[in-house]
Amino acid sequence: MAEKSRIGVTGLAVMGANLARNIASRGVPVAVHNRTYAKTEQFMADYGAEGDFTASESVKDFVDSLETPRKIIVMVKAGKPVDGVIEELTPLLDEGDIIIDAGNSHFPDTVRRTAECEANGLRFMGVGVSGGEEGALLGPSIMPGGDPAAYEEVREIFESIAAVVDGTPCVTHVGPGGAGHYVKMVHNGIEYADIQLIAEAYDLLTNVVGLDAPAVGKIFEEWNTGDLDSFLIEITGKVLAKTDARTGRPLVDVIVDQAGQKGTGTWTAIDALQLGIPLTGITEAVFARGLSALRSERKAAAGVLAGPTPSKEVDESLVEDIRLALYASKVVAYAQGFAQMRAASVENGWDLKLGEMATIWRGGCIIRARFLNRIREAYDEHPDLDNLLMVPYFTEAVANAQDAWRRVIVKATEQGVPIPAFSSSLSYYDGYRRERGPANLIQGLRDFFGAHTYKRIDAEGSFHTRWAQDG
Ligand code: NAP
Repeated sequence: MAEKSRIGVTGLAVMGANLARNIASRGVPVAVHNRTYAKTEQFMADYGAEGDFTASESVKDFVDSLETPRKIIVMVKAGKPVDGVIEELTPLLDEGDIIIDAGNSHFPDTVRRTAECEANGLRFMGVGVSGGEEGALLGPSIMPGGDPAAYEEVREIFESIAAVVDGTPCVTHVGPGGAGHYVKMVHNGIEYADIQLIAEAYDLLTNVVGLDAPAVGKIFEEWNTGDLDSFLIEITGKVLAKTDARTGRPLVDVIVDQAGQKGTGTWTAIDALQLGIPLTGITEAVFARGLSALRSERKAAAGVLAGPTPSKEVDESLVEDIRLALYASKVVAYAQGFAQMRAASVENGWDLKLGEMATIWRGGCIIRARFLNRIREAYDEHPDLDNLLMVPYFTEAVANAQDAWRRVIVKATEQGVPIPAFSSSLSYYDGYRRERGPANLIQGLRDFFGAHTYKRIDAEGSFHTRWAQDG
């Protein structure tokens, strides 16, 4: 009888195939399966010789080819397909076997699936995997959630395939239940904010500073050598430098200005609203993609709605201001995302170690950045930190950037260039640093029309005033 495989992967589209290859490259025998067998055959034809793979056409043969307790990575399209695969696997599995959903599942689904699997004697893990197809193959950032004992059984394999930064693999057990997929969701949300901030900086450099795409690309290349050093800033330089073979123009100039999205940013924003956590950077990034999608409406409005036209006069004096505004806005976006994870951790009893989240995002994933070291240090020193802005390093970074940040926002507003993430981040910052805001009036109004009561600054208790009649 053939030797059983240590782990299985079902779903051999780009992510599953590359994850299977990554695991096999560590000398681990891997069973592979895909709903459509032709894809499994293609996988074996292309990569079968790379490692110790056992391919099966039927789910039963796939399950039978695994050593027990079985560990099965499900890497299929998120949503109903995951439930379908679990349903198909369940009757074929034995008590204690582990199903690992490594796709981009919504965390409430993971909570539900965990309970369903446990009711059937199975263990379930919801695992966030970031880094796209290259990450999956060469070393992703992995965010495993679920039963800690189940994690121990796959830990060695996960640590061997994850990206490594300063000798530390970019994987750690995140927390129970839906914690892994939750953290992956916020990771993706932060990715939305990061990308939006980059797009706003590009817009300003193009339309206010007046530079062409290759020149802006050079600026990003330069920025990547400092505090902003990150994968996204690096690839922005490369994208802006690319020439379109067909027209000879910068390729970005011929790409339609309509952004797609798969929903993880929206999930993050909805979750923040439900938690009551201000998440302006990520949410504005989602809205900006929505506005970008209204292309025909924007075309019609362009000739009708009044406003200034950006000067496009070359003026490089603003470049450093834009870099500082980008950095300060990025600090705010991360401060918000981490505050959201903290609130969710308390709400769900996950005990998330936020410093470890920053640690595992330093490599392998799309938001990998030098700056995450600073976040890790902040939480190492202050595990119960309310807000990253309160750590001296970030307090000073934003203090040093804020004059430039304000200048950029004034300039963009004067010239009619939308900067929703830059400006909402500054508003959040100004709101957060204010001891007394205008919500006293909100409470007065709520009490006026709805008798919602208010609290006083000079006495305990709740008060109601008959506003129309009293005094
Ligand atoms: P995908 O396009 O999301 O899904 C295709 C895979 O799902 C195929 O193997 C397909 O099988 C299978 N599938 C679809 N419906 C199924 C069903 N009802 N029953 C069984 N199998 C079904 O693949 P992907 O891009 O590799 O992504 C996989 C997961 O990783 C997703 O959750 C995705 O969001 C997540 N993810 C993707 C990336 C990325 O960069 N692509 C990055 C991180 C995470 P057939 O061949 O039979 O159609």
